[in-house]
Amino acid sequence: MTVKQVCLGIAVAGVVAGTGSAIATAVAYADAGPSDSQGGASAGPSSSGSPSTARSHKPAPKTGVANTPRRAGGAPATRRTVARAAQSAVAVPQTGTPETAPPAPSPAVPASVKPASALPNPLPVPAQPVAPVSTLTITSTGYSYRARSASAAAAVFATHNTVDPTNVHVLVIGVDGTNMRRILADPTNVNFFNLMGASTTGIASIAGHTTISNPSWTAILTGAWDNQSGVINNVFTAGTYDKWPTVFTQLEAYNRDINTMAIADWSVITDIAGAGVIPADTVTFVPKVPGDSNWSLTDAAVTSATVAALQGTAAPNFLFSYLVQVDEAGHEYGGASSQYAEAIHRTDDNLGQIMAAVAAREAAGENWTVIVVTDHGHQPQVGFGHGFQSPDETSTWVIANGDAFGAGQLNMAYSIVDVTPTVMDLFGGPAPQGSTGVSLTTLGESQVTPVNPQQAIKDAIATQGWPDIATNVALSARTIFATLPYWVNGTIYTLTSELQKIASQDTFLISQLAQVAQAAVQVIGGVVYAATDVLAQLVALLTGVDIFSKGYPIDPPPAAARPSVLVA
Ligand SMILES: [Zn+2]
Repeated sequence: MTVKQVCLGIAVAGVVAGTGSAIATAVAYADAGPSDSQGGASAGPSSSGSPSTARSHKPAPKTGVANTPRRAGGAPATRRTVARAAQSAVAVPQTGTPETAPPAPSPAVPASVKPASALPNPLPVPAQPVAPVSTLTITSTGYSYRARSASAAAAVFATHNTVDPTNVHVLVIGVDGTNMRRILADPTNVNFFNLMGASTTGIASIAGHTTISNPSWTAILTGAWDNQSGVINNVFTAGTYDKWPTVFTQLEAYNRDINTMAIADWSVITDIAGAGVIPADTVTFVPKVPGDSNWSLTDAAVTSATVAALQGTAAPNFLFSYLVQVDEAGHEYGGASSQYAEAIHRTDDNLGQIMAAVAAREAAGENWTVIVVTDHGHQPQVGFGHGFQSPDETSTWVIANGDAFGAGQLNMAYSIVDVTPTVMDLFGGPAPQGSTGVSLTTLGESQVTPVNPQQAIKDAIATQGWPDIATNVALSARTIFATLPYWVNGTIYTLTSELQKIASQDTFLISQLAQVAQAAVQVIGGVVYAATDVLAQLVALLTGVDIFSKGYPIDPPPAAARPSVLVA
């Protein structure tokens, strides 16, 4: 961000401070309402048929999932845990002392990476050892801390193209709006603890980036941060993913035989998975279960669909599964509430079921990598929920489990923007050019093995702080202005839907009037939306979003190669 942008950002924020407090209050009020309200200005996901669909060209994918969740099967997950723990027994713990190993061709092998000879497909290791870092060197702002080895990442992508991508299996589980410190606070979250015990966990602040869901999930699912992609709110914008291809598009463009799948109960996620020149092979949208007051039944349906996909004769190579209830509980009751804690515990059950299904496939001879990630945290109190820069909102995490990762380890160099580059790397595909993320497998030099992992994670979270004041002000202004078009979009959707109900009643004159009103709402609403969106885009530009970026588009495939049916 340039000085000019910061100054302008502050100037904008000055305006906001005067006139914007009313806006902020209105936004917070709308956000505090039922989170499935179509007109809500929630910074988090909204329900099925969310405002996003109003600007989406794609119909909501149908789903045929059974709504019969079963309790977590702890045993298979435990087997996987034991298997991973056994691997770690041969790993050499990293101490954080400077690495003095000679450069390639004898690179320092990260503790997390098994010897290449033990793997059917050699996994990447950094080509050049770089100075390791310990958790003790974390800065107060967190986001400025990232010991990176870009050259190592490039070398890895260039050299390990011997992987057969149709034999690779990667599952990414997205858990929306979940604070790690709230997971740790409940010792009965055994599935999270088992998984972390068998994985490398990154405690990663996204301070300096918007903490609204869609910008953050776009970063996770494309490898492009919000200030690259230009995604500033929860309005799905199809064109974004032509410029910034999703992980699904990147995998399909690399090799069409990779079976890609997305299952989610927030339509923005399924919109993203269905976007781009080559969408995911299978996109399953799970609509809100009628009468599901806390989204637990709906997440259970996502879990059932995920387990069913994993129990199929041909499991997907890449599966992204998304769970929403923790974020919804955070919006309605706050991150410090018992309801938020209970939502996390139910999600822990969901995680256990999914990991049991993964363990069953591994027992049958497949090899899986599992990455669990959140998009942002939550304010403790009831209110806006998230969207600003407090440590509770910017706190995120990435849990990476598989042969390429250690057990019970902590890695403070991980970031949520690394997920897509990591997936591409695991499949042996090309790195997303222009992504600021790198494959997590290249960050082994930042690996540490804490004596007390849970305490180490708590300590790491405690070091996370606010960004500098200019960044804080600029991003807060961006969030407030970006919320205006989102709110208008939701209002148009609500009014149009309500008027449609009247029009559908087929009452003489009343129905005709409703149709006229509906047309007026859409025309006037469109103008208001465009006006607020121009304003929001201007603020985005002034606060560091590169709205003129060309991204890293992938050429459309020949027409014959496009699938005729996108939906499961
Ligand atoms: Zn979110």
